Amino acid sequence: MARIQAIRGTQDRYGGALLRWRVMEERVRAVADRFGYEEIRTPLFEATELFSRGVGMDTDIVQKEMYTFADRKGRSLTLRPEGTASVVRAYLEHGMARERPIAKFFYMGPMFRYERPQKGRFREFHQFGVEVIGSDDPLHDAETVAVFIAMLEDLGLSGLTVRLGSVGDGECRPAYTALLRSYLKENEKDLCETCRERIDRNPLRVLDCKADAGGPVIAGAPSILEHLCGGCRDHLDRVGAALGAAGIPYTHDAGLVRGLDYYTRTVYEVHHERLGAQSALGGGGRYDRLVEDLGGPATPGVGFSAGMERIADVASSLGVEWTGEEPLRLFVAPLDGAGEERVFPLLLRLRRRWRVEGNYRARNLKTQLKHAVRFGARFVLLIGEEEAAADAVSIKRLDTGDQTRVKAADLEREIESLASAGDGDDRSRKE
Ligand code: AMP
Repeated sequence: MARIQAIRGTQDRYGGALLRWRVMEERVRAVADRFGYEEIRTPLFEATELFSRGVGMDTDIVQKEMYTFADRKGRSLTLRPEGTASVVRAYLEHGMARERPIAKFFYMGPMFRYERPQKGRFREFHQFGVEVIGSDDPLHDAETVAVFIAMLEDLGLSGLTVRLGSVGDGECRPAYTALLRSYLKENEKDLCETCRERIDRNPLRVLDCKADAGGPVIAGAPSILEHLCGGCRDHLDRVGAALGAAGIPYTHDAGLVRGLDYYTRTVYEVHHERLGAQSALGGGGRYDRLVEDLGGPATPGVGFSAGMERIADVASSLGVEWTGEEPLRLFVAPLDGAGEERVFPLLLRLRRRWRVEGNYRARNLKTQLKHAVRFGARFVLLIGEEEAAADAVSIKRLDTGDQTRVKAADLEREIESLASAGDGDDRSRKE
């Protein structure tokens, strides 16, 4: 029979790659904790309307990339393509504004987009992100950039660049949009087909075009940064000043529109040169209309999302090692029938504290020592007739071969002291 394979654009994660992935998850979560972002986990699928309203009808995501299906009752559901809309839905649904005048959330998990799989682009990929809901203070915009940078730095990444822009608001965007539209109309013939279609509906999205054709026209377009109203200008300056004061370098980028429609004012991206064409590790911005668009009271918000596959990619190309605390590993080897009788409870007892493997059946010692080495054990616990008679266990150090017999009741204490003595030896050897 033909074998069934994983769906294109999805990945299995196991072995060393999974261990590194777990370290990334732990470190990022720890930084979110330090910055006071509360973790939230929302469902992997939602009503389709949440994303068409929340992300925007005119985005690539909604037009081309959603995994949408009808359930058995004919309701239209969608696998989440991003995290923000779900977080805002949950925030409204549970009346979270009551306990949290400013709500700060952190999320992490899989997202789904029907994109053409290529380097750095998957159909199931992972993001983490933060949202601050209920504040229009530019310091909160800067805080989301700062927590993003702190996460990446904790992961050992250097060489990051922050691009900062603004998409204006209801006061200044309409005039700028009109200006941009007439400029694009004049140069229509040099744009790609999708862009030509977007000139009337949503000309700002043309600035985000990935096709090469329109490059020169887009580069010559009027800059929104020169057409911001006083409020938006001041807001952007304050975000920039806060980043400057925090020692986070950034450059202004007038071409930043980002793929999602809900942004107002601040938009930003964090890039790494190693990624080439898909160089964004993540990005975010302010979404002062989103809560209202999803049926809530007018409430400002700001946040970012980051692509975890891309981050893992950059880390490995920089040779950054992500290793967690390695717990002590032990191996239990029964030597005969008496050992076999004691092995099961002994394994369970030791597994309360350490990572322990062993054989249930007695084998010759050489074979068992080989198993122990392959498992990465530091100590092998030998149990046989002699040990059973003395209610004891023999502990063999795999690096030196030294062996001692200890009372079963003292086992944990002995292992602990042997392990820390071993650490001391390691240090003195390195010096
Ligand atoms: P977005 O939600 O589109 O702003 O994307 C934020 C970040 O998620 C991007 O900068 C990428 O790092 C990552 N990302 C987005 N789409 C994908 C994808 N299809 N595969 C892998 N990573 C992605």
